[in-house]
Amino acid sequence: MDCIFCKIINKQIPSDIVYEDDKVLAFNDISPQSPVHILVIPKAHVQGIAELADMETVKDLFAVMKKVAIEKGIDKTGYRVVVNHGKNAGQAVPHLHFHLLGGRLLKWPPG
Ligand code: AMP
Ligand code: ZN
Repeated sequence: MDCIFCKIINKQIPSDIVYEDDKVLAFNDISPQSPVHILVIPKAHVQGIAELADMETVKDLFAVMKKVAIEKGIDKTGYRVVVNHGKNAGQAVPHLHFHLLGGRLLKWPPG
């Protein structure tokens, strides 16, 4: 599969892994937009929200985000979870991913 995140899952390309189990991988974003910027992805390839059929995946992803947020010490100060879907949102990688952002004051609304 010619998908950069599938290659990260398969360890064909390196990444800075924060959490891993049989269903979910979390790794540091290569171009962090905040002191904590972690991508949380399902190991099963799903392009985006529109292609998501197994909603159990969402539970798994949220459980990992909750855990990682505590481990990174941003649970008390706050954090943001973002999913970009499709062109107008600027989705660059066609493998569903949650951005977990924190460690600084995040402006709202986003640009
Ligand atoms: P999006 O624009 O929502 O599709 O986000 C894609 C994200 O993937 C961006 O924040 C990139 O910095 C990040 N990214 C792309 N390639 C890699 C990589 N090899 N390792 C870690 N993060 C990556
Ligand atoms: Zn993929």
